[in-house]
Amino acid sequence: MVATQRNGRSNLSADSASGPEILRGSAKSRRILQSLASGKRGKSIARLLTSSFFVLLFACSTSVGTTETTDLRPSHQRKNGYQNNYVEYQSKSLGEILRWKLSAASTGLPKTPLQATPMVAADVNFIRANAEAGEAMQPAITWIGHSTVLVQMGGLNALTDPMFSDRASPLSWLGPKRAQPPGLEITQLPRIDVVLVSHNHYDHCDEHSLRALNAQIGGPPRFIVPLGLKTWFNKIGITNVTELDWWESYSQEGVDFVLTPAQHWSSRSLTDHMQTLWGGFAVFARDLHLFFAGDTGYSKDFSDINERFFGRQNGKGFDISLIPIGAYEPRELMREEHINPDEAVKIHQDIQARQSIAIHWGTFETTDEALDQPPRDLADARRKFGINDDAFVALAVGETKKLPRRTVGDKDRSAERNR
Ligand SMILES: [Zn+2]
Ligand SMILES: [Zn+2]
Repeated sequence: MVATQRNGRSNLSADSASGPEILRGSAKSRRILQSLASGKRGKSIARLLTSSFFVLLFACSTSVGTTETTDLRPSHQRKNGYQNNYVEYQSKSLGEILRWKLSAASTGLPKTPLQATPMVAADVNFIRANAEAGEAMQPAITWIGHSTVLVQMGGLNALTDPMFSDRASPLSWLGPKRAQPPGLEITQLPRIDVVLVSHNHYDHCDEHSLRALNAQIGGPPRFIVPLGLKTWFNKIGITNVTELDWWESYSQEGVDFVLTPAQHWSSRSLTDHMQTLWGGFAVFARDLHLFFAGDTGYSKDFSDINERFFGRQNGKGFDISLIPIGAYEPRELMREEHINPDEAVKIHQDIQARQSIAIHWGTFETTDEALDQPPRDLADARRKFGINDDAFVALAVGETKKLPRRTVGDKDRSAERNR
C-alpha cells in the first residue's frame, strides 16, 4: 500500500485494498482528519495523528509469527513469516502504542530540535565526473538524507534505501514529513547501477523513488532486495530485481553484494507483518569494503558478520560502514528494533570498521528523541568507547566523503582471486 506524491493527492496502488478504511483515505475520513488538524490546537493534534498513524501502521499487527520452525528451513524462515536470529520479535499491542504516544504528547516529546540538520550544497560536478570515471573512480560516499546514501566504488554507482519523497507514508497528506529536502534530487543523480533495499518500511522502501529510478535515462538499475520483496517490486512494474536470503550474494562487474542479518522486522500494512525479510549489506569491491547496516537492534549478528568475512578481509574489517543512529527512544519500546548511538559504536567495533558514517537521523521525526539529539549522543558514545572523533562521523545532508582506496596486500589479492 503506497502513495505517490505527485499533485498532492493520494494515489494508492492496488494492494491498498487490504488496508483499513482510514488508511485508504476515503474523502470523508480525510476531511475529518484534516479539519481536526487545522484548528487552534491543530498543530499538536496533527502531530499526534502523524505519530500515531506512523506507529499504527508500522508497529501493530494482528498476527505474530510463531516460534515454530519448519523442517530443513533456516531458523529465520518460519511457517508464518520471518524471524530474527537472537530475539523473537513480537509486535507491540495497540494499547502499548497509544500509551506511549499519549505519554510522549503529555510530556512534550519529542522536543523541538535546537539546530536544523546540517545541510550543504552537493558537489554535483565531482559526483557526476566520478560516476563516469570507470577504473579511475575514487571511492566516495554522499549522504542524501535518512538512510539514502550514494556509494561510488569499484566503478559502480550504488544507492541505499532510496527515499526522496516528502513523507514516509502510504499517504501524501499524512505521516512523518521530512525535515529538509534530500541532499540531491533524483534528477541530479548519476545513472545508478545498483539499488540496495534493506526492508520494506516506508522510510526505506519508497514507491515513488523506486519507480523514478526504474525509469532513469540509460535503463533501470539492478534492485537487490531481501527475500519476499520481489513480488511487491514486480507489482509496481519493476522487474530488474534480485532477491537474496541472509548470506546470499549477487555480483555485478566484480563487485559482490551480500545480504547480511539484522535484528528488525517488516510490514507495509496491517496484514503483512514479518512476511518479507530484512537485512543489511556487505559490499566487496576491489577498492572498498563497505557495510550498510539497514535498520537494526543490537545483537550478536554483527560479530557473526565479522567472523564470516574475517578470512576474506584478511582480518582487516570494513573500510567504511553506514550505521543508523536515530529512532531509539523510548528505549524500552525501541531496544529490540533500533540501536542507540552507544550500540552503533559497538557495531562499528564488532565489524571492525575503519570509519563509520551515521545515517537514519535528522530527517523523519518518528520517536521520542529530538531530531538533533542523535549526533550529540554519538559524541558521548565516542568518548565512552574511546574511539576518535573522525572514526564515526555525522555528515551534513548533501556532503560527500572521499575515501582512500583499500590497500590490497599480496595475501588479500590471492584471497580475492580464490573466492
Ligand atoms: Zn524499519
Ligand atoms: Zn527506519
